[in-house]
Order: sequence, then C-alpha cells, then structure tokens
Amino acid sequence: MVSENKTDVIVIGAGPAGVSAAVTVARGGKKVILVERGSFAGSKNMYGGVIYGHAAEEIFPDYEQSAPIERYVSYHSYMLLDEEQSTTITYKNHKEKKNAFVAIRSKWDKWCVEQAIREGVYFVPDTLVNKLIVNDGKVVGIKTDLEEYFADVVIIADGVNSLLAQQIGLREEIKPKQTALGVKEVIKLPEEIINQRFGLNSEEGAACELVGGALSGMLALGFIYTNKNSISLGIGACLEDLKAKKIRPYELLEQLKAHPSVAALIEGGELIEYSAHLIPEGGYNAMPKLYTDGAMVVGDAAMLVNNVHFEGTNMAMISGKFAGETALEAFEKGDFSSNMLCLYRKKLENSFILKDLKTYRSVIDILSKRTSSFLGYYPQKVCEFFNIFTKADGIEKRGKFVKFTKDFFKNRSLAELFKDGISAIKLVFGVLR
Ligand SMILES: Cc1cc2nc3c(=O)[nH]c(=O)nc-3n(C[C@H](O)[C@H](O)[C@H](O)COP(=O)(O)OP(=O)(O)OC[C@H]3O[C@@H](n4cnc5c(N)ncnc54)[C@H](O)[C@@H]3O)c2cc1C
Repeated sequence: MVSENKTDVIVIGAGPAGVSAAVTVARGGKKVILVERGSFAGSKNMYGGVIYGHAAEEIFPDYEQSAPIERYVSYHSYMLLDEEQSTTITYKNHKEKKNAFVAIRSKWDKWCVEQAIREGVYFVPDTLVNKLIVNDGKVVGIKTDLEEYFADVVIIADGVNSLLAQQIGLREEIKPKQTALGVKEVIKLPEEIINQRFGLNSEEGAACELVGGALSGMLALGFIYTNKNSISLGIGACLEDLKAKKIRPYELLEQLKAHPSVAALIEGGELIEYSAHLIPEGGYNAMPKLYTDGAMVVGDAAMLVNNVHFEGTNMAMISGKFAGETALEAFEKGDFSSNMLCLYRKKLENSFILKDLKTYRSVIDILSKRTSSFLGYYPQKVCEFFNIFTKADGIEKRGKFVKFTKDFFKNRSLAELFKDGISAIKLVFGVLR
C-alpha cells in the first residue's frame, strides 16, 4: 500500500448523496476525498428541478443565505390530460413556503461542493473511478486511470447505474422494468411571462405533474417546473414500456408539448437545453445490499428514490449523511467491517427513507399492470366529465350524464372495472398496512 495515497474516507460521485457523505465525514474531523468524473460537480447531472428544504437544511443549515435557489415551490398542480382537454388540481400553501425549492443542478451541485471544500473536503474533479480495490473481501481503495488511492472506508455514490456496486457484487445490472428514462427540455422565457402564466410572484414557483395525454396508457408522467427565467419540461417513462411500444422519448415529449394546455405555458420560449438521465424505479424490492466490509452504497446507486412523490435528492442527501455518520462511528470503534457498517442500514430503517420505500413498495408494480386505466382511461374520463359539467349549450344535462355513464361502462368491461377496483384497494391498503 502506498502511504501517501492513503486517506480516511473516499467518496465516489459528487451528486447530492456523495457531497452530503463527504461533508459529514469532514465535519467529524476525518480526512475525506470526493472524486467526481465531471469537470465540476453537476456537470454530468440532470433531474426535474425540486430540492426539499428539510434535507438541504440538514446538510447545509444556512443554505438559504447563499444557495442558488431559483424559486420556492408554492404551487403543486396535477394536470390530467386527454387529447384536447385538461383538468388541473392545484394545491397552494400560503403559510409553509419553504418545503421545497427549484434549483438548477449544475449550479446547486457546484454550490454544495464549494461549501464542502470550505469544510475540509478534498475535491478531485475530472477523475473517473474505474474499479474498487478489494483485498481479502474488504474494499480498501479505488483505481482511476492514473493512480490507486486507499482508504479505511469507501462510500459509493456513483448514481443510478452504479457499475462500482455491481463490480463488487452488491447489486445486479439495473433492469428496464426497474428504470425510467427521463428526458427534459429547459425553455427560456422572461420572468414576468412565467409569473403571469403560472400566477406567481418572482419568489414563488410552480411544480406541475402531468398525467395522460400523449403519455396515455404508459407508466409515464410529465413534469413542469418553473425556474427564474426558464421552464423545465420533461417526462419520465418506464424503459420497458418505451421498448415494448417502440416509442422514442423525445417524440413523446414533442407530443406532450403540442397539447394546447402545455403549449400555452411554453409559447414563445427558446429551447436552451436538452438532457436525458435514468431514474431508478425498483424501490424497496429492488434495493441492493447496502454495505460490505469497507464500503457503503448511497443515493441512486442504492435505488433510494420514491417515484410517487418525486423524491430522490432528499433520500440521496440523507442517506449520504447516514453513511458519513456511520464511517465516523467506525473510526471511533476502529472497525470497518460489515458488522460495524450495518449501522448505516439501521439508520435508514429508522428514518423516513426505508419506511417510505417500504410503504410504497408495491405501488409501481400495481400501476404497471393497470396503466391503461389509471394513467389513460380515467384521466380522460375526468376531462370528459368536466366538459359536460361546465358546458351551457341549451341541451338538458340529464341526457348528457346518462350518455357519459353508458359510455363509461361500454368502453370498459365489467371485468376490467373489477380489476381496477381491486388494484385501487390494493394501492390504498398497500400504503396503509
Ligand atoms: C428526469 C429526472 C427528474 C427528477 N426529478 C427530481 C426532482 O424533481 N426532485 C428530486 O428530489 N429528485 C428528482 N430526480 C431524482 C434525483 O435526480 C436523484 O435521485 C439524485 O440526483 C440522486 O443523487 P445521487 O447523488 O445518488 O446521484 P447523482 O446525482 O446521479 O450523482 C452521481 C455522481 O457520480 C458521478 N459518477 C458516476 N460514476 C462515477 C465514477 N465511476 N467515478 C467518479 N464519479 C462518478 C456522476 O458524474 C455524478 O456526479 C429526478 C431524476 C431524473 C432523471
């Protein structure tokens, strides 16, 4: 072992999980190297747009003073689409304004790493970790193109594909069924136009989830988030569905953008960015082994994402913090084996992370079997219902409601409705049990 290349902890990947792990270790007085393949933190990263205040505050208590926050999310909307219509439910909280905020990852990740460096983290950009070094079954270091580095603990935070966790047998290659492909456009618009279109002031932001329309019948959702001077618009669609239906995600996004209710929000905007990234969808059932002798896996690499609530960054940050704390406790005991690092899993189990993932463990599976109903037929029917409910055209209402009800049952067999009902019950009881 080359002693000058030995440190206390190495963290691989400077996303939200990695930076949180590294800064926690540094605060505990241990030497930590944070290795990132990108030229700066955030240069390789993309997501929808929302960061959660509770997690940001837990890692960087004073973040609001200098973090690159675009807008605080004050409106949450759910837009159900059919071909030509939409029904939107909007929730606004006038009191609790800082639950979530919109941030651009290339700025947010960079800011987080700058804070971490100030607190003693040694940041190594432009460096791809090719391999983990394993001695007698214990992870003891990393191998990059140029050098080998050694540490008592290695924290693997390399994101959704996590080739490194695969290399040491902690997880398998991610399967299309457990993965969504996210594609996103950033569309530039003047701040006042965004404020006008979404009914916001300059501090406020909107988060809007889109169901149905072009995405009808697929395990897919759309999203719109307002930045200061731009809008992030994208979709996340199950890879298996995209493959089976031979649909290209950018075509799906184009169709979604053409919907009149969406087109009105982005009209006149200039496309300034297009990006794509995978999202882990397997949840609790697909989680890998989270630790081994000398190493822990955090964030997306450990599949810690709650897709129903669009929560990934908070799980990444808090899991990183737990792994950092566990590493510090391992130093106190002088034990870096699995017996000690299993504490990391216990911390996750006692937190919202594994509790929530357990609660939602069957949701994606149930939805994937009834997508044509829950993510196609019913959103369309809600729009049709409101079309009748709001129309004053001189034709009596009763006949319209009778026709709507007859059509509802004509287009959906009793067997299908029964299956939908059972699935809805399973969804509710699955969550409440
Ligand atoms: C389309 C889309 C929309 C999303 N929307 C939201 C949202 O609105 N809110 C939310 O909370 N979550 C959202 N998520 C999920 C969220 O982005 C992730 O859960 C979160 O980024 C995970 O953080 P991480 O640090 O684990 O991984 P990442 O952010 O992926 O970071 C991994 C880092 O490791 C680096 N790396 C990888 N391999 C190596 C290597 N071998 N050597 C060195 N460095 C390496 C990468 O360059 C990267 O910087 C979304 C995701 C997508 C794709």
